[in-house]
Amino acid sequence: MSTAQSWNRLPRVSPKAVHTLTNRQETLPDTLPTPYLAHGNGRSYGDVCLTETGSLLMTRGLDRFIDFDPVQGIVRCEPGVTLGEVLALVVPHGWFLASTPGTKCATVGGSIANDVHGKNHHDVGSFGHHVRAFELWRSDGSVIECRPGQNGDWFRATIGGLGLTGLIRWAEIQLMPVQNPWMWVQSQRFSNLDEFWVLNREAETNWPYTVAWIDCLAKGKARGRGILLSGQHAAAQTNLPAVKTGEKRVPFDPPFSLVNGLSLRAFNTLYYRQPVKPQGGLTHYAPYFYPLDAIQDWNRIYGRKGFYQYQCVIPPEDAEEATAALLDTIAKHGEGSFLAVLKTFGSKPSLGMLSFPRPGTTLALDFPNRGDKTLRLLSELDVIVKEAGGALYPGKDARMSGELFQSGYPEWQTFSEYIDPNFSSRFWQRVTQ
Ligand SMILES: Cc1cc2nc3c(=O)[nH]c(=O)nc-3n(C[C@H](O)[C@H](O)[C@H](O)COP(=O)(O)OP(=O)(O)OC[C@H]3O[C@@H](n4cnc5c(N)ncnc54)[C@H](O)[C@@H]3O)c2cc1C
Repeated sequence: MSTAQSWNRLPRVSPKAVHTLTNRQETLPDTLPTPYLAHGNGRSYGDVCLTETGSLLMTRGLDRFIDFDPVQGIVRCEPGVTLGEVLALVVPHGWFLASTPGTKCATVGGSIANDVHGKNHHDVGSFGHHVRAFELWRSDGSVIECRPGQNGDWFRATIGGLGLTGLIRWAEIQLMPVQNPWMWVQSQRFSNLDEFWVLNREAETNWPYTVAWIDCLAKGKARGRGILLSGQHAAAQTNLPAVKTGEKRVPFDPPFSLVNGLSLRAFNTLYYRQPVKPQGGLTHYAPYFYPLDAIQDWNRIYGRKGFYQYQCVIPPEDAEEATAALLDTIAKHGEGSFLAVLKTFGSKPSLGMLSFPRPGTTLALDFPNRGDKTLRLLSELDVIVKEAGGALYPGKDARMSGELFQSGYPEWQTFSEYIDPNFSSRFWQRVTQ
């Protein structure tokens, strides 16, 4: 049985069948077991892109551009086109994705289905805000063209709809204008969480892109120390630096995780002490937006057992207290993450019924899978998130309880009415049954 994985390599489950789509009009074979589930490029962490009871519809073969208007900055393409392929087409014409996650390997279909967000959420909202239209195929053979003002309820259900409303067959995206492929980026060190809140508030009023990396192992007065990166697209100018290319690869699966207490502490300390650029400097968009894409298969460093990503959002009123409690709990367990990312979302309401982005603070961390020990820590974090009225990101989840999902996504029952009866995922079965 061929299989497909999500990025964190767990859970390890096999679908009943895998069907590769290459023609967006094709009829599915009658013999294909249901429920179906689209699988983009497997860059989700967890089981929103996995099934063990039905068939995965692999969409990477649906990779054609249908139209590109270089004057208006509108691109229409099939869902398996990656964000990197969109950028390769549009950046030379002076356009950029208005919202992009931290990997350019995500597909357009996957980016809609998880309503992904980027470092500029406080400025432009999430990916769904820039989707002009898409076509949804339903398993009864019907096709629904959706726009914000046409079949708007289907639009709201499918943006952030975790692939459950049917198969997106094409999508039209509004791009944003840029002068060149470069970013102007400033970095500032902060020595604890209190300093972060002050710096971040100021940065968000002046910069379209902000994100902080924090040392999640630091305790006491240093709790939450880190580096704040603020960026904007570079202005038009001559004498731009030459672009350095080249990717590295993790060449094999180590039998155990290379991420342990020692390597984590060393990495976090070194990263915190790196030279910063408070005056700013030019950086190409690729290392700025997609630093991890430069190391192919970096997920292998966690070994064969894989890892959990934990991403939560906490409403603004409780954000400072709950973020401190989350960091204290992580430091107490001595478990930690190479890259703990802290960012505040803006107030623009998400369009999707199940969209994760909402006003508040989001913290994202990776934890090597050490079995029950890791699961106990994550359950403690869940209690803090739930008490603060927060939510976890389904696109980065392999273990949240149904109770936590349902409290974080109060529209889930309304959403259920739009699910295609022949589509489901392991995630959905886990959090609703
Ligand atoms: C290094 C890294 C950094 C990341 N940074 C961020 C970030 O900053 N912000 C963020 O929001 N996310 C981030 N992510 C998560 C990633 O962007 C999302 O999980 C994204 O949805 C993955 O897209 P994919 O094409 O791989 O889809 P998959 O993971 O394969 O699938 C995701 C969902 O999309 C559905 N789907 C896929 N194609 C279709 C289709 N044609 N029709 C209907 N449904 C479909 C699937 O059923 C599934 O529910 C990051 C991931 C990585 C690996």
